[in-house]
Amino acid sequence: MQCLIVDDEKNFADFIKDALDEFGFQTLIATSANEFCQLYSCELELIIIDLCMPDMDGLQVLRFLHENGSNAGIIFVSGQHEGLLNSAVELGNEWGSDILGALPKPFTAGALEALVGTFDKRQTQSELQPVRGLSLHEVETALQNKEFRLVYQPLVCAKTLRILGAEALIRLDNAKYGHLGPDVFIPIAEENGQIGAINTFVAETAISQLALWNAQGLDMFVSINMSPASIADVNMPESLTELARAHGVSPEKVTIELTETAVMDDVADYIDLFTRLRLRGFELAIDDFGIGHSSLRRLVRLPFTKMKIDRSFVGAASENKERFTVAKMAAMLAHELGMEVIAEGVEDEKTLRLMNEINCDLVQGYLIARPMTASDFKDWSTQQVMRVALTSA
Ligand code: C2E
Ligand code: MG
Ligand code: MG
Repeated sequence: MQCLIVDDEKNFADFIKDALDEFGFQTLIATSANEFCQLYSCELELIIIDLCMPDMDGLQVLRFLHENGSNAGIIFVSGQHEGLLNSAVELGNEWGSDILGALPKPFTAGALEALVGTFDKRQTQSELQPVRGLSLHEVETALQNKEFRLVYQPLVCAKTLRILGAEALIRLDNAKYGHLGPDVFIPIAEENGQIGAINTFVAETAISQLALWNAQGLDMFVSINMSPASIADVNMPESLTELARAHGVSPEKVTIELTETAVMDDVADYIDLFTRLRLRGFELAIDDFGIGHSSLRRLVRLPFTKMKIDRSFVGAASENKERFTVAKMAAMLAHELGMEVIAEGVEDEKTLRLMNEINCDLVQGYLIARPMTASDFKDWSTQQVMRVALTSA
């Protein structure tokens, strides 16, 4: 793999080169703008950029790569304030560059290896799975053939890890494409007006599953994701109420998660829909809070009862002070507004501790469990009840 290091500090560039050579890269070093221009080629697969250099800064290099359509993975390094590294990462992401991460100087060969390792893994994954898109017809057929199914990920008490609920997440098992996640087909369904049918499937499956779990003695709630495009269905509050009643489930045990998008410009319709859902007793969560279009104004205008802090703030909290601060302030804000706080994307013990430190009420993430089938969820919950009982004894 071909790699270029753009750093005016020759000693530091040599250190990076030694580490990368160990991982089997062919590495070149550019210590000035001139050398960069000579050594740049579109064959480069990895570029390490120092933010601060005398005759050119790292963002100029980034702009050059962006304008020249480079597909290289990019790592920023800098001895400057860490906030600058974050801004460089943000800019790269905005431009759609393949940003692997940022390393404040000085860093160890191990830290570099960790970033390069994720790159290697992604390269092999993308070779295995070519980019896929489903046609409108294929989504329709999948609906008819009942190829959609739900998996469930536990939502547990942040302090005790007791199971409080589960989020239903949709999957598609397709003969031609294999197993697909929602990111592939939800946007198509939203565009083509099939999201209503998907919503109905999700609500029916999740609520009937909850009724079954309740009957088996699992006292918990279920969370379902609703696309903002569902606003077209003005009867949703009534049909959900009817569904819950038919299954003997109380609406308080059903949470509707909503990710805010640009589609939500016509906020009056949303106030109308959400207020009617609340009037009927359903819980409402603002999903992925902190990214996209979530705004403080919307937060107070819509009757949310729960806030889910986006995993980009939660997952990075242990190594990124700025992101941790945002998660902390979001949790404080939600509590002040009387909402319950959920941290999504908790992947390790350290993050769990931090989320407790900022008083998150619930946590969700791979540390607790990955999304699983309904029957695996039942088995997992039996074990979890025992684990919790043992640790609290
Ligand atoms: P979301 O609602 O924010 O769901 C959480 C996503 O984060 C899930 O991805 C889950 O598998 C993933 N996740 C959970 N814990 C961790 C963790 O510790 N680390 C990491 N890296 N990821 C974690 P999934 O299932 O691929 O869903 C992606 C998004 O698709 C969801 O984000 C939601 O917005 C949407 N979606 C899922 N199911 C439905 C659905 O039934 N209807 C609609 N409209 N959208 C759905
Ligand atoms: Mg969600
Ligand atoms: Mg989310």
